[in-house]
Amino acid sequence: MTDGALAQNRLQAVLDHPEQTLVGIDFDGTLAPIVADPEQAHADPRAVAALGRLGRLLGTVAVVTGRPARTAVRLGGFRDVEGLDRLVVLGQYGVERWDASTDEFVIPPDPGQVAALTQEIPPLLDRLGQGAAHVEHKGRAVVVHTRQLPDPDASFSTLSGPLNDLAERHEMVVEPGKNVLEIRSPGIDKGVALRAIVEQTGARQVVFVGDDLGDLPAFREVEQLRREGLGGLLVCSASHEEDALSAIADVVVQGPAGVATWLEELADALEARRSTV
Ligand SMILES: [Mg+2]
Repeated sequence: MTDGALAQNRLQAVLDHPEQTLVGIDFDGTLAPIVADPEQAHADPRAVAALGRLGRLLGTVAVVTGRPARTAVRLGGFRDVEGLDRLVVLGQYGVERWDASTDEFVIPPDPGQVAALTQEIPPLLDRLGQGAAHVEHKGRAVVVHTRQLPDPDASFSTLSGPLNDLAERHEMVVEPGKNVLEIRSPGIDKGVALRAIVEQTGARQVVFVGDDLGDLPAFREVEQLRREGLGGLLVCSASHEEDALSAIADVVVQGPAGVATWLEELADALEARRSTV
């Protein structure tokens, strides 16, 4: 079977069994455009409206993000959206959770070593001539952003090794992303988060939409779930910065606007099928 036919079959399975389908979707670069100030990265309203339509038809819709759950809920504007009354937001790669049905956050305490590690970052950046890098404190994790530096790629390379050494000394790991180096506890990624919610919901098919290296574990997990007999469809929100996911994706769309259109088309197709049944 050609790749195109395979992708079509995988989509068809979602159309045939929406109630058994879980859609997991990343936030930054997927639902929301990448902007210079991460606090201004609001979800595309077209995408949120489409998710609301899907929320009525699909088994589960879950936003799976590296952002803290509270931030994602706020920037996503996910509260009180029609159709998203069962939305789940998994924050910090699944460590945190928000359920729209109860409006409750589950947020475990931060690991103790983060504070100690964080204190070492500013002097390290200064020593490496990268003192202007933006440091984001996420509580459970620390993120060093190189996007706003004069040469983001060079700064990323300069920082990568020393931050890895620092993380290792504190029994943490560095996860690279788009112009970001995130230091967090080991064993936490979107693949682990996705498997947990698939098991909780009993979903038989999984759609995952992502744009970045941080989504790769989720993409790999969907491949693994397929080997275990579940259905899986992978959608890549491509950008000019990072196309690592597009090689294994079934569908490649252009950034958050392309994602919004794809979600609208999925909702159209599902609603059309429902009205003919
Ligand atoms: Mg992303």
